[in-house]
Amino acid sequence: MENKPVSSNFIKNIVVEDINAGRVDQIVTRFPPEPNGYLHIGHAKSICLNFELADEFKGKTNLRFDDTNPLREDVEYVESIKEDVKWLGFEWDGLFFASDYFEEMYNRAVVLIKKGKAYVCDLSPEEMREMRGTLTEPGKESPYRNRTVEENLDLFERMRKGEFKDGERVLRAKIDMTSPNITMRDPVLYRIFHATHHNTGDKWCIYPMYDFAHPLEDAIEGVTHSLCTLEFEDHRPLYDWVIEECEMENQPKQYEFGRLNLTNTVMSKRKLKQLVDEKYVDGWDDPRMPTISGLRRRGYTPESIRNFAREIGVSRSSGVVDAKMLEHFIREDLKLKVPRTMGVLRPLKVVITNYPEGEVEMLEAEINSENPEMGSRQIPFSREIYIEQDDFMENPPKKYFRLFPGNEVRLKNAYFIKCNDVIKDENGNVIELHCTYDPETKSGTGFTGRKVKGTIHWVDARSAVPAEFRLYNPLILDDEEEGKSFLENVNPDSLEIIHGFVEPNMKDARPQDKFQFFRHGYFNVDPKHTTEDKLVFNLIVSLKSSFEIPK
Ligand code: ATP
Ligand code: MG
Repeated sequence: MENKPVSSNFIKNIVVEDINAGRVDQIVTRFPPEPNGYLHIGHAKSICLNFELADEFKGKTNLRFDDTNPLREDVEYVESIKEDVKWLGFEWDGLFFASDYFEEMYNRAVVLIKKGKAYVCDLSPEEMREMRGTLTEPGKESPYRNRTVEENLDLFERMRKGEFKDGERVLRAKIDMTSPNITMRDPVLYRIFHATHHNTGDKWCIYPMYDFAHPLEDAIEGVTHSLCTLEFEDHRPLYDWVIEECEMENQPKQYEFGRLNLTNTVMSKRKLKQLVDEKYVDGWDDPRMPTISGLRRRGYTPESIRNFAREIGVSRSSGVVDAKMLEHFIREDLKLKVPRTMGVLRPLKVVITNYPEGEVEMLEAEINSENPEMGSRQIPFSREIYIEQDDFMENPPKKYFRLFPGNEVRLKNAYFIKCNDVIKDENGNVIELHCTYDPETKSGTGFTGRKVKGTIHWVDARSAVPAEFRLYNPLILDDEEEGKSFLENVNPDSLEIIHGFVEPNMKDARPQDKFQFFRHGYFNVDPKHTTEDKLVFNLIVSLKSSFEIPK
């Protein structure tokens, strides 16, 4: 994988300063997903940032599963996350599970209790919420706040032993109920869940909260720069408090950057899971999903996603990025790499009445006209072909340069044809055209006799391979209407399935092979629906683009 330097950003500047000032020798970053869903393109931004930054400064990056909540996590997610990070092109140094540190975290909590910095609280969650105060009002101290160290040690140990029910007691930090930062008002550090954990089984029934666990995880692994999204900004004082009060040897620092949001989609595992569970889509890897696995199945490449992540950059604000920008990067990536070929998505039969019956000729065509190194291919041509229904109109408007009665067009890589007769069924639908061709006009022979204004694509009817095309529209219709749930904005027309034909040499296409279909766009062979005798193509992106990267 090529190692382009990360373009300058505020986090990179911090790293450079830390290295120059001798505060760190080797930077260590981590990507810390919670295994409660599949990764999405927002995570890709965080992955690229963490791995590419460490790469550039010869540092290390860990993949760490932040698996501190047994209720939501699953090994299926662990496996998919590993696969996706690898597929994006990154190799982690250490592979860790936060749950491997449960014993150490427990011991650190005991350190806090012994210092009088944590206490067991019996308030119900509702009472705790009421006493927390608001942005304008200070909170009230819990009546359990001044328990003795001995009592706290005893209760905490009994919490661990399973003597109490879920929600009956929690361990809280003793900080400041009047802090203007609500996060610092005696936050909960541990709660009770009698639940089986995917990694530790039934060993534990108390689980650490993110705000307690995360800084400890970072410190244990020797992470130097802990990068997270902006919503954790208010948690930073607590992060520092935990590192300091738990007397951790390593002192990681947290830095926040803006979350990636994209138009016409949702970007939270909770919502994506809802789309999967309620069958709006066909799994986490449905090609309409903004998940890494969905993008992969759609036909996106790791390079296109990495280039996109680089281009959007890292800043201290979260904006909404136009999904067209992601499309721009896949077009750019595939443009010179993939074969170009012809596919007829909505076929209309054409009989070339002056072409000898039973004859087939092979025409030569470039595989990629912008990349001659890819060589050429042979396309059969004979008396019957398919063209696109859209490329014929019986009564065309002005400036329609494709086929209509009496008009002549060029068949890409072949001949001029002229439409003479229109055959219809009993309902008046056009079912076949009768055309004649002009042998003088063969492509590549330098014919200059006359010009036509339209060039259309086609496939040879006898040898063409039937194919299914899955065309996609945005999954979510952007609509700011208040009080509307995202489910009400799911686009009912996000998937259209049609059946047409592709060139005969496509019979060897394999899942995940990518092509540009002339005049249509880029397509990927779908790995889930394609079988020995059925080819299914996902539309990755159409050719048209009005998008330019803002300067
Ligand atoms: P979600 O809300 O989708 O579940 P999360 O933040 O809870 O996301 P985690 O598994 O905790 O998901 O995230 C792992 C890492 O990815 C975190 O460091 C998080 O900040 C980062 N991340 C998650 N979503 C985005 C996003 N949209 N843009 C950038 N980084 C993100
Ligand atoms: Mg989360």
